[in-house]
Amino acid sequence: MDIAALPKTELHLHLDCSLSYDLIHRLNPEVDRATFLRDVALPEKCSDLADFLRRVPNQMNLMQTEDALRATVTDLFTQLQADNVIYAEIRFAPHQHQQQGLSPEDVVRIVNEAFDLESANTGIESRLILCTLRHFTAEAAMETAKLVHLFQGTRVAALDLAADEAGFPIEPQVAAFRYAREHGLFRTAHAGEAKGPESVWETLDRLAPIRIGHGVRSIEDPRLVNHLAENNIHLEVCPACNVMIDVYDRLEDHPIDKLYRAGVPLSINTDGRTLPLITQNLQYQMLADTFGWGDTEFLACARNALKAAFLPDNIRQSLMNRLNQYHVR
Ligand SMILES: [Zn+2]
Repeated sequence: MDIAALPKTELHLHLDCSLSYDLIHRLNPEVDRATFLRDVALPEKCSDLADFLRRVPNQMNLMQTEDALRATVTDLFTQLQADNVIYAEIRFAPHQHQQQGLSPEDVVRIVNEAFDLESANTGIESRLILCTLRHFTAEAAMETAKLVHLFQGTRVAALDLAADEAGFPIEPQVAAFRYAREHGLFRTAHAGEAKGPESVWETLDRLAPIRIGHGVRSIEDPRLVNHLAENNIHLEVCPACNVMIDVYDRLEDHPIDKLYRAGVPLSINTDGRTLPLITQNLQYQMLADTFGWGDTEFLACARNALKAAFLPDNIRQSLMNRLNQYHVR
């Protein structure tokens, strides 16, 4: 198996968790490599999701101008190229980039244009997902849903709910997701990572997302596993990140293989490139070493990802053709 050559996808990747050391050092020369590893990146384990989330502002605070946002997109596409990613859905919360006077709409326009440019430069097909966050007010959540609607037909493809699942209730997010559903917008939501299957059930029931971000703790409820498989509800699984934020002690304990064998449609994703400090090539190698995964599993997951991608069918089909042209080595 030639992991580097395998065509890959990313459905779950946070823009504001993926700045490379080189870009961070360029945007803030005071951050040297030691500081980067101590305060910005997550190279090993942290104590819980809240500890993970505390590190996020260190990258986000650097992404407050048009130039920095554009540089961030270019930097991430370069990293995706190194992993041979053919399709990426990248997410972020536009409301978190207003520190220097940009409006959320400005932010989306800038990032959307940068995606157009970098997709053309690299040949990587891409879409953007806009996040509302668990601690956002109902008003900010609705503004995010309306931005997805406003930019419908561009790279902007979907609404997501992210951030601290265990620390904040779902209620303020419900109306935004209803708006998205009523306007025919794609939707995904984080659940079943910091909390168990009850959170996945609640998210499916209250937000009616098309996919679930993570969802791995669904494994604790066999009825939920069946529900996901029977209703073809896709899980955006981020195994290395789950271990680094200590949802699971070791990769051996991660349920990705069990969920896959149970017929739950799932994909392999990094969640971030710096927080956690990981690449798809590395993560594929870890899955191969731990579960004996090979071309069959990796290509099936890429196929699952394209089936669940927030794309028009003609683009989905052309990417599927690209995947099918890959000859196992
Ligand atoms: Zn995430």
